[in-house]
Amino acid sequence: MTYAHFFEQAVSRLKDERRYRVFADLERKVGQFPQATWHSPGGPRDVVIWCSNDYLGMGHHPKVVEAMAETARSMGAGAGGTRNISGTSHPIVELERELADLHGKEAALVFTSGYISNQAGISTIAKLLPDCLILSDALNHNSMIEGIRQSGCDRRIFRHNDLAHLEELLVAAGPERNKLIVFESVYSMDGDIAPIAAICDLAERHHAMTYIDEVHAVGMYGPRGAGVAERDGQMNRLDVIEGTLGKAFGVMGGYIAGSAAVIDAVRCHAPGFIFTTALPPAIASAAAAAIRHLKGSAIERDMQQRQAARTKRVLSLAGLPVMMSNTHIVPVMVGDAERCKAASDRLLADHGIYIQPINYPTVPQGTERLRITPGPAHTDAMIDDLAGALLQVWIGLDLPIQRYQAAAE
Ligand SMILES: *Cc1c(COP(=O)(O)O)cnc(C)c1O
Repeated sequence: MTYAHFFEQAVSRLKDERRYRVFADLERKVGQFPQATWHSPGGPRDVVIWCSNDYLGMGHHPKVVEAMAETARSMGAGAGGTRNISGTSHPIVELERELADLHGKEAALVFTSGYISNQAGISTIAKLLPDCLILSDALNHNSMIEGIRQSGCDRRIFRHNDLAHLEELLVAAGPERNKLIVFESVYSMDGDIAPIAAICDLAERHHAMTYIDEVHAVGMYGPRGAGVAERDGQMNRLDVIEGTLGKAFGVMGGYIAGSAAVIDAVRCHAPGFIFTTALPPAIASAAAAAIRHLKGSAIERDMQQRQAARTKRVLSLAGLPVMMSNTHIVPVMVGDAERCKAASDRLLADHGIYIQPINYPTVPQGTERLRITPGPAHTDAMIDDLAGALLQVWIGLDLPIQRYQAAAE
């Protein structure tokens, strides 16, 4: 038996469980998104992307593309080092100022991804609080769970968005113990929103620090696109706000924003920040251009909300099992790994519609789903085509259709 056998076995187990991941080889073209070319096994084909996290199409925005190209031409392609050793470019310094201003905080710190910002941010903050107890929402993202694990601190998990359970755990910890509440604003698989104000109330009452992941909200909620906490008037009550530059801001990278003391401490202590090459100046410039644009423009957010609401309405009128949400995320329940994958395959092969299946462990077993992310560039005609295609696939796979269901708001 060779070592290769172990790896082949690991993959075949996933295949048996219908969890083997197959990537779609796509080519997006500036100005045509959400339309793209899919380099299928049989050659190139036109498709419409319905599952992108470039939620507002900012990855193709002329200001963003131009900022990236111009900075690359003038400052080169790479950062040239870690932040400490010659990698701190002027664009990354300006980007951090832009982010601190966006969230109304004293300072911000940029990482190479949102994933790293959570892993490094949470672990470092929790480690610096003596005997810290972390209180974590049950549906927190893997990057937050890894940050919690890496901190080595005690943790308690509260039931998703369950304030009574959170309070019970806060009370049990006692007033003296240092506590960090870690949660998200928009939960990306169900599309629901945390009760931010009420969590801040509890944090204040029980003397806990708060850390919020606004990855699926920045750029998209609030008057300047700072997220749900901005929309709800709660930004100043949160100790640390974490976000990504890779989703609605259309580029790549992640960050935390908070008080000068917290940010400086993380800057000096987080290995995931210290021992890695900085984000290139061109990426920092492009991200800053997207943030600046969305601070002053609500057209993209408004159109996204409109098209998401329209998609929910059209799909539920067609009898498809849309999970209702108050956000831009439109999950359609399948509830079975094999048929979820089959639905996705058929949409792509027969209809030129690309929606990646969401299977375990991203969501619990039995809740496999298609996760649709309409954006400002999806037309009404595309939404109608999507409904028609989904209906055909649903009938073909003998999935349940609810006739005459009332349109949900
Ligand atoms: C995508 C995601 C991240 C990671 O952000 P990246 O910039 O893609 O690394 C963090 N938190 C949540 C909730 C996410 O969905």
